[in-house]
Amino acid sequence: MNMMNIRDKVALAHLPTPLHNLPRLSAMLGIDLWIKRDDNTGLAGGGNKARKLEYLLADAQAHGADMLITAGAIQSNHARQTAAAAAQFGLDCVLLLARSVAGRDDVYHQNGNILLDYLLNAEVLQYPAGVDLNALCLKVVNERRAAGRKPYLIPVGGSTAIGSLGYVEAIGELTRQVSYHRLNPAHLYLASGSAGTHAGVAAGTLMGGHGWRVQGISVAAPEQEQREKVACLVREIGRLAGQTGLLHCADTAIYVDDRQVGSGYGQPTEAMEEAVRLMAGLEGILLDPVYTGKAMAGLIADARCGKIKPGETVVFLHTGGSHGLFAYASSFPVPQ
Ligand SMILES: *Cc1c(COP(=O)(O)O)cnc(C)c1O
Repeated sequence: MNMMNIRDKVALAHLPTPLHNLPRLSAMLGIDLWIKRDDNTGLAGGGNKARKLEYLLADAQAHGADMLITAGAIQSNHARQTAAAAAQFGLDCVLLLARSVAGRDDVYHQNGNILLDYLLNAEVLQYPAGVDLNALCLKVVNERRAAGRKPYLIPVGGSTAIGSLGYVEAIGELTRQVSYHRLNPAHLYLASGSAGTHAGVAAGTLMGGHGWRVQGISVAAPEQEQREKVACLVREIGRLAGQTGLLHCADTAIYVDDRQVGSGYGQPTEAMEEAVRLMAGLEGILLDPVYTGKAMAGLIADARCGKIKPGETVVFLHTGGSHGLFAYASSFPVPQ
């Protein structure tokens, strides 16, 4: 279906992103592994937020906004791509970033995405761990309004129903590529964080009647909490897009594995580090420490334990984030 009928979007992302095989990692795992390269969406280094921002920017324009306001962690890829989108459209951008990942070093607070946020000319407001970013966002929105500005608020991760339409559309794109390559994937794996990507992918999969199982790998929340968050957003997408088939989406129709979270959001795990090294060394592709490294670790674990059966076709959605590697030098040390 044509999402343009539902909602306007602006052009920000380089689409379609490639879908290609990973022959060496496939051979190692004994499966037929393909990768959807949403790390190549452009917009200051790529990633999944570009697709969401195409719809969110159109909504901001429809509201006459002159400023974008959003929030996240210090190494938020969403913040970086929002700053880039604002620059491209001549809007001001305010980023509220919390030092919410405990125990990180100076490199984490000065390199990677945060370096780029400043470079992209965003106004960065930094906060300690434990603050209520949603409440702070509303406060900043009100202050700027009082000063005569027209701010457009984008929640953490851009995970509204409008933002998620970018991933409903991505499934249409993937469907054409899968049929071009004559594939019949049994599984689609992706990182599940603020839930908009997972919800859009699940909604697009349900709408298209596809047979693949959408497996989200949680990077923060426990399994049941994340399932409910995703299902709730699928129902909202259904209301926004007039898709009655989505209105009763139950949490039992959403698959989440929370075993890769480790000690918390943004905290490195051995399995993440192994996955990042395997993908780099076998395929020349950079994953990231917070999202795609843990998602790939979940996929590798499922291939090793037989949950993914030998020879099955799997699509891995690469949602970007490799700038984050530069903030995690402690996980990938340069030999002295
Ligand atoms: C934000 C992000 C995700 C998770 O997407 P959500 O829509 O927040 O669940 C995955 N990978 C990367 C690299 C991200 O930046």
